[in-house]
Amino acid sequence: MADYETHEHDVLVIGAGGAGLRAAIEASAAGVSVGLVCKSLLGKAHTVMAEGGIAAALANVDDRDNWKVHFADTMRGGQYVNQWRMAELHAKEAPERVRELEAWGAVFDRTKDGRILQRNFGGHKYPRLAHVGDRTGLEMIRTLQDHGVHQGIDVYMEHTILSLLKDDNRVVGAFGYERERGRFKIFRAKAIVLATGGIGRAYKITSNSWEYTGDGHSLAYEAGAELIDMEFVQFHPTGMVWPPSVMGILVTEGVRGEGGILTNKEGRRFMFDEIPENYKTQTADNEEEGWRYCQGDKNARRPPELLTRDHVSRCIVREIKEGRGSSHGGVYLDIAWIKQRLPNAAEYIKRKLPSMYHQFKQLADIDITEQAMEVGPTTHYIMGGIHVDPDTQMSRVPGLFAAGECAAGINGANRLGGNSLSDLLVFGKRAGEFAAKFAKENSLGKMGNDKIDIVAREALAPFERSDGENPYQVQGDLQEMMQDNVGIVRTEDEMRMALAKIDNLKARAERVAVAGNREYNPGWHTVLDLKNLLTVSEAITRAALKRKESRGAQFREDYPDKDDALGKVNTIMRREDGGSMEVRLEPLPEMPDYLKRIIEENK
Ligand SMILES: Cc1cc2nc3c(=O)[nH]c(=O)nc-3n(C[C@H](O)[C@H](O)[C@H](O)COP(=O)(O)OP(=O)(O)OC[C@H]3O[C@@H](n4cnc5c(N)ncnc54)[C@H](O)[C@@H]3O)c2cc1C
Repeated sequence: MADYETHEHDVLVIGAGGAGLRAAIEASAAGVSVGLVCKSLLGKAHTVMAEGGIAAALANVDDRDNWKVHFADTMRGGQYVNQWRMAELHAKEAPERVRELEAWGAVFDRTKDGRILQRNFGGHKYPRLAHVGDRTGLEMIRTLQDHGVHQGIDVYMEHTILSLLKDDNRVVGAFGYERERGRFKIFRAKAIVLATGGIGRAYKITSNSWEYTGDGHSLAYEAGAELIDMEFVQFHPTGMVWPPSVMGILVTEGVRGEGGILTNKEGRRFMFDEIPENYKTQTADNEEEGWRYCQGDKNARRPPELLTRDHVSRCIVREIKEGRGSSHGGVYLDIAWIKQRLPNAAEYIKRKLPSMYHQFKQLADIDITEQAMEVGPTTHYIMGGIHVDPDTQMSRVPGLFAAGECAAGINGANRLGGNSLSDLLVFGKRAGEFAAKFAKENSLGKMGNDKIDIVAREALAPFERSDGENPYQVQGDLQEMMQDNVGIVRTEDEMRMALAKIDNLKARAERVAVAGNREYNPGWHTVLDLKNLLTVSEAITRAALKRKESRGAQFREDYPDKDDALGKVNTIMRREDGGSMEVRLEPLPEMPDYLKRIIEENK
């Protein structure tokens, strides 16, 4: 084996978004040495893009809110296939995590009496999202980063981990490379926390940044961990659709929380047309009531624009398919209309939604205080991910923990907006705490040189091919294929075809070539991401085939209804010894009576 630079830590955290930073802070506070690795510069993780807010039942704006209502909302939103224990811990601990963030310096928007302001969001019964205008992620990252850098954490920026290293069954390190110079590095650790975020770049239209190539999902899967509920990919209802250069960029749900309405080309507010049975009692049945809700009237019910994302996305697709879409193939999202109700509407919109105002002004030449936006669904988030113990966040591989978007269980079939940022804080903290505990109880393990040699050889192989395919072409074809065949509306035939195409793309990925050398070579980075994208694409497709029903984010045209039996199971995937992907259905853990009662009481 070549002589690679090697670093040693008690706990290695892979990923420096909200989850990774929070895990690193907690592990470091427990007195162990911590290394933090990220693909880009510290502070540039995807979390920084988060807009609308952090969901936590602080009850600052509506004193009827509490953890029980938040728990019930999360379970209803997830259509009851959530891991109930994670949803319970999340709802109970989120308020404390938000207050802690404030104590560390986060400057939230305020109520008149100086408490953290909370806004309405889809699927949340009460105003629950602590926010900083529509730039909440930026404030969260800034605060965690400020706090973290004073804890003595060693940060390895612009490093990509390519493989996890094991000693027998236990994870004992990671092998990766420095992106600038292309030099390989070894990280030895007693425990590892994966916090690598999502998979959005497996699709053509996405709100996700270049970093979202499913690395953590794939690293864990290859190391023997299980993936859970991979079929549940969230298509956010409102991404930009025009001009083409901005396709997929997110338009925060905060627009609808502040009173924004969805209309079709006839100018009709179509969301009133179909309100799901389990939300009927909570949803306004007229426009007047919906507006009063957005203005804080506690006796009003929320407007149908604030139904869950899965439902809103499908209603938009229906309007477009039936010929009532906007001129560029979306629908209209209108916040400008509130000037009929508020004297200072333009100022109000600019103050509450500053990023949205600038985003549309600069990218689409639209003034959202005067004109409607054109929007359509965009791939946004994956509810599925690494299967972890709800309390400790450890996967089935000893020493391997996961938190944030790459871990799964809390959201079930659909995530409520705002529940990700709180998930990062709650489970990031837990992952850091239990990884530190594991590190204290275990010593550094032995690492096999053979594995390192194999990974290094495979990584460098594309430089040796003179006439291979362009990696960007393979990546583009995969994204197009997933968008067309495993998107918002799914069928058995299309997904079977997708599996065949994935096999073909895998073969093509093995033949890609890159020009130049290892230094500053984005083409090479793309090759190395491809393997992960292909693994998660296969996992999504196989899980979606296995779930022969429509539930939450999974809509099967060939099985349009819910199946009660499938409402009691999760899909679980693992790598077979021979390398093939096994999918099985596993019964959900039995929910204790006190939680069942909470759900009943909040129906
Ligand atoms: C535009 C937008 C707005 C959003 N708004 C909200 C909101 O208002 N509220 C809400 O709750 N959620 C929101 N979300 C979702 C939420 O932002 C994400 O789910 C969340 O930030 C994920 O955080 P994370 O810590 O899991 O991952 P990230 O913040 O993405 O961090 C991942 C880290 O892993 C690193 N990494 C990845 N692969 C590797 C590798 N192989 N080696 C080394 N490092 C690696 C990356 O460099 C990065 O540092 C939004 C998402 C988008 C796209």
